[in-house]
Amino acid sequence: MKYDIVKNSREDALLSAASSEMQEDIQPFEGKFPKAEQVAWLGCLPRPLLSWYDEEKRDLPWRENTDPYRVWVSEIMLQQTRVEAVKEGYVRFLSVLPDLKSLAEAPEELLMKLWEGMGYYSRARNLQKAARIALATWGGLPASVEKLRSLPGIGDYTAGAVASIAFGIPAPAVDGNVLRVLARLLNSSRDVLEPAAKKEAEALLRPIIPKDRAGGFTQALMELGALICVPGSPKCEACPVSSLCLGFRAGTASVLPVKKSKKARRVEERTVFLLITPQGKVALEKRPSKGLLAGMWQFPNAEGSFSREQGRRLWEEKEFFVGQTQKLPQAVHIFSHIEWHMTGIALFLREEPPAEKVDGDKNSDFQRDGREEKKPGQSGPAALVWASLEELRTEKALPAAFRAYRKVFEGIVEKGPTEDEPEQLMLPV
Ligand code: SF4
Repeated sequence: MKYDIVKNSREDALLSAASSEMQEDIQPFEGKFPKAEQVAWLGCLPRPLLSWYDEEKRDLPWRENTDPYRVWVSEIMLQQTRVEAVKEGYVRFLSVLPDLKSLAEAPEELLMKLWEGMGYYSRARNLQKAARIALATWGGLPASVEKLRSLPGIGDYTAGAVASIAFGIPAPAVDGNVLRVLARLLNSSRDVLEPAAKKEAEALLRPIIPKDRAGGFTQALMELGALICVPGSPKCEACPVSSLCLGFRAGTASVLPVKKSKKARRVEERTVFLLITPQGKVALEKRPSKGLLAGMWQFPNAEGSFSREQGRRLWEEKEFFVGQTQKLPQAVHIFSHIEWHMTGIALFLREEPPAEKVDGDKNSDFQRDGREEKKPGQSGPAALVWASLEELRTEKALPAAFRAYRKVFEGIVEKGPTEDEPEQLMLPV
């Protein structure tokens, strides 16, 4: 679809001056945002961008209305999770916790279950803390960037997004998507991973946000980054602002933005153990209360790549009677700074664990001796709880990192163990 750019006389003048300069040579903007000419150039952006957004925006559940609670929950969920993964979780979450009060009063186990599949569970805890503070302090979410920013889990981006979308405040909301779009529009060689780049981008956007369409502008810019100006190869031929885009004209769009300071993720080998009882229950343990996936349930696991025999010895030393073992497929889960490269072993126990070992919620090492920082995967029998497939589906929230092995467990419960050695198979997570 082709979009006509509606221009006023100021925009005409800017465009024609810049276009004639660019016929000769398109030089990248170097150094920091913003320069006066960059702000002037971007002043042409809102109208074509908004007219495209009004026609093409996706029908997403959080766009039904601009209720601050709904907007805020969606923005927190979308921080580090794909739209497709959030859609279903968002509807489920809102149907059970429809307002600030219900969120503030929700039991933690329910909150974690509702957050299942979206990862970064500390966001859910912060959401609840923020709901309690906002209710106690202002009786609801405040219509102020600074007050929103003071709440747990709300940074500059989320404060700007909620303020503009829910309250119509002309506040910028800059995340990685917006930085990418801006760098390309301006053909800028700014390293967008430098912390200062976000503040500079906010200063670029602040003067051009339309006062009557602040929320629409925020969402339109995000939508452009999500659908058209995507990472890697942007879809410039379908872009509503390509005639404004210096990166497109210079042929540099696909190599922008510049990211110099990106650190490589640390790779960690882990072995996940599915300890399965004759009644088809599987062992779970709780992660430490601080750090990665804090306080979440997990399948017991340990650093390193274990053979079946090593896995059997490890659990027999903990007084479990292991029968058959089965090597499980590999899986990879990527966190922001670390990658888990996992392998798995299913260990089929010959007998049910003794009764005193079954109720880990009451008998776990964590609660019995207060050693909350015990490393995961080093649980003794009393730190384990035993969950049926049904309990896994309805009560125990497992982080997405273990989704692949949860599927394996489902297959084992439904079809039974196999002698196969599926080591070549890589499970998507
Ligand atoms: Fe992005 Fe291409 Fe549009 Fe420029 S023309 S904003 S690079 S999609």
